[in-house]
Amino acid sequence: MVSRVIPVDPFDLVIFGGTGDLARRKILPGLFRRFCAGQMPEEAQIIGAARSEMDDDGYRQLVRDAIEEFGDKPVPEGGALDAFLARLGYVQVDATGTDGWEELSRRITEDRVRAFYFSVGPSLFGDLAERLHQYGMASGQSRIVVEKPFGHDLGTAKALNAVLAQHFDETQIYRIDHYLGKETVQNLMAVRFGNVLFEPLWNAQYVDHIQVTVAETVGVGGRGGYYDKSGAMRDMVQNHLMQLLCLIAMEPPAKFEPDSVRDEKLKVIRALEPVEPHHIVRGQYDATEKEPGYREDVEDPKSRTESFLAMKVHISNWRWAGTPFYLRTGKRLRARTSEIAVVFKDAPHSIFGAEAGRHRNVLIIRLQPNEGMTLDVTIKEPGPGGMRLVDVPLDMTFADALGPDADEVPDAYERLIMDVIRGNQTLFMRGDEVEAAWAWTDPIIAGWAARNDVPKTYDAGSAGPEDSLMLMHRDGRKWREIKA
Ligand code: NAP
Repeated sequence: MVSRVIPVDPFDLVIFGGTGDLARRKILPGLFRRFCAGQMPEEAQIIGAARSEMDDDGYRQLVRDAIEEFGDKPVPEGGALDAFLARLGYVQVDATGTDGWEELSRRITEDRVRAFYFSVGPSLFGDLAERLHQYGMASGQSRIVVEKPFGHDLGTAKALNAVLAQHFDETQIYRIDHYLGKETVQNLMAVRFGNVLFEPLWNAQYVDHIQVTVAETVGVGGRGGYYDKSGAMRDMVQNHLMQLLCLIAMEPPAKFEPDSVRDEKLKVIRALEPVEPHHIVRGQYDATEKEPGYREDVEDPKSRTESFLAMKVHISNWRWAGTPFYLRTGKRLRARTSEIAVVFKDAPHSIFGAEAGRHRNVLIIRLQPNEGMTLDVTIKEPGPGGMRLVDVPLDMTFADALGPDADEVPDAYERLIMDVIRGNQTLFMRGDEVEAAWAWTDPIIAGWAARNDVPKTYDAGSAGPEDSLMLMHRDGRKWREIKA
């Protein structure tokens, strides 16, 4: 495969929070990779902005350290890093005050795309939008990139949308969900809508159920304070898992264009049924000999926030009536893995008899590790001894299928930042989508509070609370194993 790099026009990118964790771990190493791939034009300018006192050289050193520490490969020789750093600058800016804003506006180039990445806490989003407007940087060429969390509930999300809308048109607002930037997630759309094979079967008549699992091995660690106010529902389900659900369940959009795709995703969210309390299992990880449990991590012995969530969800429309979607996510689980499994129904009649066992086609879309897809197909086990059936995977692991170039596939952040520069909103969430997602999750969360729901504990390194296994067993189904 030959990787194709489509150049972009010169741009200015300002990273508010340019000294923070996200900028150092993801955004800046990602930009360097795009630079190495030849996608960054000569005149592109990247400006870090934060309150810390620093000059341009100081910032370049910070970015050099970040790329050396967090880049996924050794820095290439030949001066690429120096050439990249030469495009970087820094302005000391206080989002809530007046410091630095005149200087920032002087540094911005006239008449070109300017992207402002809000890589700061959400409480500063409104201040940044306001000041960009006040200091004349909110032109028609401007785009803002907004990180998660986008609100804490429907009310706060609406308020945030309203603040941003005062100064920016919806076409200028890029609400980022890095799951949508993953190669496999986009490939899901290619597989669904680029082949005739799947779409006729992609409905309740042929699909028994769908499982979405996002499992982490880490606990909440140093983010306990934030996490305990949020929990798995707000931190993972309302955004990432819902976005995945939408892409699996949506009708074919007329075009692969922002509003066509986002209209279809919105219809899915609006068709979600309220979830029965007994279709939800919440959990908190237990302490081990070596590591603290959830409640110790968040320093609240009475915390009722979930670090694990499993739920059975139904979509009320013609395509999916009767086909459940099982969603599951949690911390301190057996392995770090994210996947979607589309489990098809049994063949209507087995000509091989009961002894051939039960065999099903399963399409597995793996987001991590080893991004790729496999389709389990039933074949005859080779060799003599009668007709024994076995399921073998048709493997579309990108690293194998694409050869050495698979390494060059941009990661989610790189791809999404370049989409911002190109002005392509297809893989970003629209304001009404985010609000609809909160409108569905809010009553579920309110129900837990009203019922004084206490999460079940689960062993660190397990697949979650026993009850989450029962959620499937009761329906005669089984979760796929959580394994790396
Ligand atoms: P962080 O490490 O705390 O960084 C915050 C950044 O904001 C720092 O550069 C800080 O620099 C700057 N800042 C704080 N107050 C400021 C102010 N008044 N004016 C200007 N700059 C200010 O946070 P983070 O982890 O990078 O997260 C940033 C955003 O991304 C958050 O919304 C977070 O929820 C989201 N996010 C993060 C991750 C991640 O992996 N870290 C993942 C997904 C989403 P100074 O102190 O020098 O001002």
